Amino acid sequence: MKKFYWSAPRRSACPIIPVFLPFHGCPAHCVYCAQYTQTGQGPIPFPDILDKVGTVLRARALAGLPPPELAFYGGTFTSMPEKEQRQCLDLATYAIQRGLICSFRCSTRPDSVDVPTLTRLRDAGCSTVELGAQSFADAALTAARRGYGGAAAAACNLAKQAGLNLGVQLLPGMPGVSPEVFICDVSAALRMGADMLRFYPCLVLAGTELAREWRAGGYRPWGMEVCLASLAQGCHGHGAQNVGYAWGWHLKPFLTERCWPGSVHPALGERVMARALLMAVRQEADRGRLFALDAPLRCQGYFWGHRGELRAAWAALGLGSDEVRFVEGEEVRLYL
Ligand code: SF4
Repeated sequence: MKKFYWSAPRRSACPIIPVFLPFHGCPAHCVYCAQYTQTGQGPIPFPDILDKVGTVLRARALAGLPPPELAFYGGTFTSMPEKEQRQCLDLATYAIQRGLICSFRCSTRPDSVDVPTLTRLRDAGCSTVELGAQSFADAALTAARRGYGGAAAAACNLAKQAGLNLGVQLLPGMPGVSPEVFICDVSAALRMGADMLRFYPCLVLAGTELAREWRAGGYRPWGMEVCLASLAQGCHGHGAQNVGYAWGWHLKPFLTERCWPGSVHPALGERVMARALLMAVRQEADRGRLFALDAPLRCQGYFWGHRGELRAAWAALGLGSDEVRFVEGEEVRLYL
C-alpha cells in the first residue's frame, strides 16, 4: 500500500464577500483586462460601493449568518487615492470590531506595495494580500503591458515579512505565458512562500486590446485541453505544501457571452483538480495497475471528472466505482 497527502482545494474558513472596485487605482491598462465586463458592473461611485457593503453586512448579521471575510477585488487597491483606501480600511476595521466580518483581504499589483502600505493593511486587520503577479517572466509582463518587470518577487517577500498571508494570482495563457512558463510561475510563487494560488486562465474579452490582437492573428489563446492539462500540472505535486487553490472566474452569462470560449468552463476548477489527482495517482502507481484506492471524501464531487470524463483513464489504472472508496481524512491510499 502507498499513500500520499491530498489537501487541495481547501475552503476558506468563512465565506468571502467580494467587493469589486473595477479599475480603481489602476496605473496601467493591461491588454487582457475588461473589468466592467468581468464584474458585470459599470462605473459606480465609490461611496455607493461602500454603502452597499455596509447594507449587505448588516443584513447578514440580522439573518444570523456567520461573519464573512471581506475581499476588495478589482483595480489596484494600494494605488487608490489615499482617501478611498482609508475609507475601505475604516469600514473593514469597524466591521471587524463589531463582529460583522472575521477579516478582510485585498488584491493589488506587485509594484504597488511597500512596507508602510503593507503595515497599514495589517494594522487595519487585513489577513491576506493577493498579489496580481500574473507571471514572474518579464517578457510576458511586457507583452501584457503590465507596466513593470521584476517587482513580483520583492513584493511577495514584503507581504510575508509584514506577517500577511500571501496569495499569488497567475494568468495562465496570458501573452508570453506558455504552459512551460506557467509551470515556472507556479514554482516561483511557491518558492516565494505563497499560501494560496489563484489561477485566472486568460480570457479573450470583447473590447480588449487582446481581442484585437487575437482577431489580427497575433495572439493564440490556449485551448481547453492545454488549459486543463497545464493547470492540473500546476496543482500537481504541491499538496504537501498545504497550498490553497482558487479559480478566478465566476462564469456568469454576462461574462461568457462576451468572451471567446476557448478555456471557459463553469466547472473548470473541478476538472483541473480531477486531472491533478489522476496525475498524482498515476505517478505513485508507477505504470502499475491498482486493486483499490481510498480517496478523501471531499474529492467525491470531482473524482471521476466532469460528467465522468476521466472514467476511462481511471479504468486503465484498474479502478472503477467498485474499487474506489471515499473516506474521511486527507490521504489518498493506493492498494497495489
Ligand atoms: S489587470 Fe489589474 S492593473 Fe491591469 S488594468 Fe486590470 S485591474 Fe488594472
